[in-house]
Amino acid sequence: MAEIVPFHDRDGFIWMDGQLVPWREANIHILTHALHYGSAVFEGERAYGGEIFKLTEHSQRLVDSAHILEFELPQSVAEIDQACRETIAANKLTDCYVRPIAWRGSEQMGVSAQKTRIHLAIAAWDWGSYFPMEERLKGIRIGLAKYRRPDPATAPTKAKAAGLYMICTVEKHRAERAGLADALMLDYRGRIAECTGANIFLVKDGVIHTPDPDCFLDGITRRTVIALAKKRGYEVRERAILPDELATFSECFITGTAAEVTPVSAIGDFTFKPGQISEALLGDYMSLVQPDKKLAAE
Ligand code: PMP
Repeated sequence: MAEIVPFHDRDGFIWMDGQLVPWREANIHILTHALHYGSAVFEGERAYGGEIFKLTEHSQRLVDSAHILEFELPQSVAEIDQACRETIAANKLTDCYVRPIAWRGSEQMGVSAQKTRIHLAIAAWDWGSYFPMEERLKGIRIGLAKYRRPDPATAPTKAKAAGLYMICTVEKHRAERAGLADALMLDYRGRIAECTGANIFLVKDGVIHTPDPDCFLDGITRRTVIALAKKRGYEVRERAILPDELATFSECFITGTAAEVTPVSAIGDFTFKPGQISEALLGDYMSLVQPDKKLAAE
């Protein structure tokens, strides 16, 4: 296995509260509210050929997630866009992952955080395929998670909030221990919801089905792929899908900024064959996000 280079010990620059600071100096104090109480929101973006895909939608979602957690970023959406661009330029990256994160600082310790300062940092790094490419084309195998996506009455399910990921990490680990790539989570009602960091689509008789995102992230990739599918003339049904139905689908794929479009070959004991629709949408997505290829396709 390749040696792991820890994320705190790398070259480059991280944008932090308005300045580009040397990577190893982008630190926070141990008594930071966000570390103790989960008061942080973040984004995951990808740049292709030097351009961050759907950048403004990501910056807007960051601001919206912060509002849901009752905090206001000092920067506007346009300023966040600009800071993300500056970060990739400072690190001389063109194809990379971009991670903005906003959090409550260390002015106050305790549940109340009214006086905390709000911080924003942006890091960017090379990040190839989220799932190994060979595995991705064959379709990844995923398991069924035990934890469920929470009820919107229980947690701020529309925010991309750090705290919502603690159950995702537990489930991703459970899947990895079983030799699987990821886990499918049901929602609090027992309906199919999403994977630990991606949305899910299922295909039956040439029609694409995907769960209604009423208690989990309506991913930017999800919305992009729905538009691409409709452009090709496919019918897309957003609806409640129960796990009992899994045996009736022929294809399955997941979508996300990191995962892009990744076909699935198995969910637990249910098997799928990455087919025409998954392959078409994987191709359409990659040509849309890669500006050079997009030009070639037009
Ligand atoms: N669900 C979860 C839990 C995620 O972490 C992500 C990745 N941000 C997604 C869905 C997909 O969202 P997007 O397409 O906006 O990256």
